[in-house]
Amino acid sequence: MTLAPKNNLTTLDLGLAWHNRFAQLGPRFYTPLAPWPLPAPYWVGRSASVARELGLNAAWLNSPELLEVLAGNQPLAGTQPLASVYSGHQFGQWAGQLGDGRAILLGETAGLEVQLKGSGPTPYSRMGDGRAVLRSSIREFLCSEAMHGLGIATSRALCVIGSDAPIRREMVETAAVVTRVAPSFVRFGHFEHFCHHDMPAQLKVLADYVIDLFYPACRASDKFAGNPYAALLEAVSERTAEMVAQWQSVGFCHGVMNTDNMSILGLTIDYGPFQFLDAFDPSHICNHSDTQGRYAFNQQPDIAYWNLFCLGQALLPLIGDQALALEALESYKTVFPAAFERRMFDKLGLADASASTADLDRALLQDVLQLLAQEKVDYTIFWRRLSHASAAANNTLVLDLFVDRAAAEALLLRYSERTKLIPRGLTAGLMLKNNPKFILRNHLGEQAIQSAKEKDFSQVNTLLMLLESPYEEHPGFEDFAGFAPDWASSIEISCSS
Ligand code: AMP
Ligand code: MG
Repeated sequence: MTLAPKNNLTTLDLGLAWHNRFAQLGPRFYTPLAPWPLPAPYWVGRSASVARELGLNAAWLNSPELLEVLAGNQPLAGTQPLASVYSGHQFGQWAGQLGDGRAILLGETAGLEVQLKGSGPTPYSRMGDGRAVLRSSIREFLCSEAMHGLGIATSRALCVIGSDAPIRREMVETAAVVTRVAPSFVRFGHFEHFCHHDMPAQLKVLADYVIDLFYPACRASDKFAGNPYAALLEAVSERTAEMVAQWQSVGFCHGVMNTDNMSILGLTIDYGPFQFLDAFDPSHICNHSDTQGRYAFNQQPDIAYWNLFCLGQALLPLIGDQALALEALESYKTVFPAAFERRMFDKLGLADASASTADLDRALLQDVLQLLAQEKVDYTIFWRRLSHASAAANNTLVLDLFVDRAAAEALLLRYSERTKLIPRGLTAGLMLKNNPKFILRNHLGEQAIQSAKEKDFSQVNTLLMLLESPYEEHPGFEDFAGFAPDWASSIEISCSS
């Protein structure tokens, strides 16, 4: 596409108050830049709940004016559009300067930054065309809202806008723009950028900005008194640990945990080749471009720690003491396992899990996960059926998931012995709140994408509705909670987006 940004367009005023604090950081942090126009845009999916968070009324969300603005065709009053610069480690190697190669930050309102992804080339596009295809944009839109529905920290997505403009990937596809929303899109890679390029003043400006806005308690840390940057590293390590623990507990595989895709706020960001596990396979690799399995499902906790080390390295000029930086990172090693166990014990309904039951519970969890892996049992269906079995005191549907029925029976017997220790008994209602019925399986996303290519967006909307409240039963939508069909394993998800 060769349309250049137009000048002298009338601006649309949504009546929102814009602050644009990132834009105040100064010219070394970004290039001011308007999005490129997207020809003949149309709505593909919209989230009323994100609109509410932004203070945007429903009438705007249905308006042709907002469609034009979020397609990049008309300026928005009060915003200061820009593309930010960052660097990062990709697949374990220093990748140098990256930056918003296809995203434009419009501005900040209601404490949330609004970003258009796929909105055309920027000075950071390198060899890319600055665009995103409909396929990957629908996946990002739905997954953002699915993660939020699951209670996992994430960037949100207001909408996907499509266009018939052709985009060349392995095949010719069509263009789309996702409007993403988060308190901040600052990544570990932003810090790496200023450290690597030996810009200590900017590094400090960035760290102070993040601390003042999002981690003010770091200035009053007892443990790291007088060193808010060490306190920041510890706080980010802890948030990241909590986030990855949740990923592991729901079977979410991010697929491309490069340091430029790691949020300084511990949000899940940059949905690309992600996948929710169907069968439980701990070493599953969801990204076909990840030939070494660096980002396999069971590697994620260690990779997050590796990435935090890169962040620690980048913050070192501010922390000033390597021992302090190492101490700050140390908390990941206790917070991650504790958070993971807490989530998994909740899935088991062991509300009474405590130090006195820990050994028993750990052994039980270990054996459950081992049997699920051995038998390649569907991860989500297993937990949901276990929750219902506990309510109905009938294990038949759980046992049906296993070929080695005797092994499953023995495990369920151990489980029931353990649950007898719970003072007020097992509460199935609580288990149902910790074991979702609906996840964004690859094949569901794929079906919605195929229909959307034919301009039928009903599947996108249905999935959005289900994934916004994934713990509810939603009677009548059983097809969206079933096993993956055989063809699902042939879906290839790569970095191409
Ligand atoms: P990702 O792995 O998708 O997070 O992207 C890594 C880097 O490549 C980021 O700097 C992106 O902005 C950039 N990038 C990815 N796809 C494109 C594209 N089609 N055009 C320009 N830049 C891109
Ligand atoms: Mg990225």
